[in-house]
Amino acid sequence: MTTSAPEQKLQYTPSIQQLLETVSLYLHIPFCHTRCYYCDFNTYAGILPLREPYVRALVSEIALAGGQAQHADGSLRRARTIFFGGGTPSLLTVAQVGRLLNACRAAFALDEDAEITLEANPGTLTLEQLVGLRAAGINRLSLGSQSFDEQLLKEMGRIHTPEEITQALRSARAAGFTSVNLDFMFGLPGQSMRQWQETLAQAMALRPEHLSLYSLIIEEGTPFFDWTQEGRITPGDEDLCADMYEYADQLLQAAGYVNYEISNWALPGHESRHNLTYWRNLPYIGMGAGSHSFFAGKRFSNERDPQRYIHTLKRRQLPVVESETIEKVQEMSETAFLALRTAQGLHLPTFEERFAAPFASFVGDRLRMVKEAGLLEYAVGWLRLSKRGRLLGNEVFRRLLPE
Ligand code: SF4
Repeated sequence: MTTSAPEQKLQYTPSIQQLLETVSLYLHIPFCHTRCYYCDFNTYAGILPLREPYVRALVSEIALAGGQAQHADGSLRRARTIFFGGGTPSLLTVAQVGRLLNACRAAFALDEDAEITLEANPGTLTLEQLVGLRAAGINRLSLGSQSFDEQLLKEMGRIHTPEEITQALRSARAAGFTSVNLDFMFGLPGQSMRQWQETLAQAMALRPEHLSLYSLIIEEGTPFFDWTQEGRITPGDEDLCADMYEYADQLLQAAGYVNYEISNWALPGHESRHNLTYWRNLPYIGMGAGSHSFFAGKRFSNERDPQRYIHTLKRRQLPVVESETIEKVQEMSETAFLALRTAQGLHLPTFEERFAAPFASFVGDRLRMVKEAGLLEYAVGWLRLSKRGRLLGNEVFRRLLPE
């Protein structure tokens, strides 16, 4: 959906204090038909019968969290975005998604034009379901597509075919979705530049409003990790990955997409407001098994196991298992480092208003070397990574960590 003019104003002008009074909501849905071979998310196959008790527990958590987030005068906390992530949220029924949305509307003051995204697996969607989701209030769809190469999809353990991606997008359009993201991965074992180019060409032909392109990271505990150790698969090498990224960036920018964050491209006005919450280090409340939150000066996370999560909520208790107070200097570091991942970079006046301190005194001499090495550039009021800096971002980020 289009970012409204008032929202732009809130995001880009010094209205940071207003934004800090709002939240974004994340709802974790930990169900999948099967586990993809590269996935280390907190998600499970074979527990579909838990869907209904899980939704009941999540409705309880939303009510409890909304109560805790209320202002001192008892008014509801304003929520700007909702994101159903997973897992595979499209495995919920339309009625279950509707109950979760109603719970959010009852516990938070949801903006009328709130961005409400649902992640979906193209192999699990029907037109009827998409029409129902749109009517329930979902206004942005994110399709985990990963590749248009049938063989690569099989080798990743995906349950859908390339045709199902195209079909899902066409059905989404027919159901009235005007804001759709497609996720793809590069640097896959055995993936050639030619396969990547063909995937991007097919994606471009569908003209989604948003694309997320992630380089594969092989995480411990996944089949891909074991197979790499055993020498059965070889991940794409670094140079090839860099070439794939460069190719994608040039192709997408020529097609009118803005690379507004390292891994994300959008047609103007279709940047994900929910994801911008994370990159601007603004408050969010994550609900559901294993979800994370940043709210009221604390980072906290929930019980990961869905069964234990459900049992905790049956006792009307919040399922928080870890909590950390974020000191001001840490919040300053995180705010700078997350903003530098975005194309716009860090808006220095907003930073200084937020923390009531000059950026120069926070950063001291720590960025001098990376500035001299050409990794950073200044525009009026903004600090951002240069083209070279985007390839060597970690050199900059580690210098922003608290001393
Ligand atoms: S569908 Fe997504 S969340 Fe589920 S196993 Fe595959 S990658 Fe992980």
